[in-house]
Amino acid sequence: MAASSARARAAVSSSGPSFSTVTAPMPGGSGAAGLGAPPGCAVHDARGALCLPGLVNSHNHSPLMAVRGMVEDRGFAPAYIPGVPQGHWLSEEETLALARLGVMEMLCAGATTIVDYYRCPGALAQAAEEFGLRAMVGGRVMDMDSAALAEGRFVEDRRLGEATLGAALETVARWDGRGRISAILAPHAPDSCSRRIFAEMRDLAAATGRQIHTHLSQSPMEVAQLRAREGMTPTEFLDDLGLLGPGLIAAHCIFMSGSDIARFGRSGAVVAHAPIGNASFGAAAPVKALQEAGAAVTLCTDTKSADMFEAMRMALAAARSGQGCPSAARPALRGRARRARRRRSGGAGWQGGAGGRLLRHGPWGSPLFWLAP
Ligand SMILES: [Zn+2]
Repeated sequence: MAASSARARAAVSSSGPSFSTVTAPMPGGSGAAGLGAPPGCAVHDARGALCLPGLVNSHNHSPLMAVRGMVEDRGFAPAYIPGVPQGHWLSEEETLALARLGVMEMLCAGATTIVDYYRCPGALAQAAEEFGLRAMVGGRVMDMDSAALAEGRFVEDRRLGEATLGAALETVARWDGRGRISAILAPHAPDSCSRRIFAEMRDLAAATGRQIHTHLSQSPMEVAQLRAREGMTPTEFLDDLGLLGPGLIAAHCIFMSGSDIARFGRSGAVVAHAPIGNASFGAAAPVKALQEAGAAVTLCTDTKSADMFEAMRMALAAARSGQGCPSAARPALRGRARRARRRRSGGAGWQGGAGGRLLRHGPWGSPLFWLAP
């Protein structure tokens, strides 16, 4: 909705549960009274501005602002790249400073609802709370040694698993349901987590009703490691554990076989589609096929950028060049399949109605008053 009237104004209350905007001509005057706004609201001149719904950025690690400008063209996630700053080098205080920067960037780029998980999850939750975002926050749980991982080696470290799991559980206890913060369970990836720790996360999810958020089929190395360790693909591994389902959000989903796509889609699991990061792999996730198979698709920037519009453009370009436009999949999903998918995802949205599916209208996050440059 564009604030096209020369007399348009917006009333914004920073104390409410979200930004509330009123964009209308004001026959009764130019102040808050003219808008019929509650007392205490600030009135901003919205001429030349755009009023749009808050965007949902479904997968991020805000402290990875530390590697901004170092990894975008390396073709791999920072945790697997030697010689760049690693999360375990950061103190809690440094993590908080970087999380504030990452959260502020996402908010400035139009996201009012985010998923954020990394080490020191309390710092992530604090940053989101300070900036007023609705955030699903998790502690990154993993039990493969971080330094070895950056060198492409997989060395199980049970103490690391216990420490990261402890931090994750502390976040659930301290932050879940506090204001706009909710807690998720976030095992890092099938290659950086053992079967044992994934099973623990599955049991916790079943006991607490928490979502599981992880990376999946992000690299050929992950696929090869799961083949060697488990004798199956990463998707088969999650299915074997009983984790595939609407309560799973999996980022990337690039290197999937045809049967992986069918298996994932059939379960009603959710993809966090990261087209900008995927492009650095020289790859595009098969989102059209996943969507046709029944998966829900959400969009994210994965801290490579915070620009959801750039992500939308990249998603369209990648899909059209490799697989055809994802929206073309919609007419193919008729009748029972479409209704079943809606039922699984709880209506038009995901995460309890936060919304934000790729190329789809639904109940979005909070409205955002966004000043055009
Ligand atoms: Zn990620």
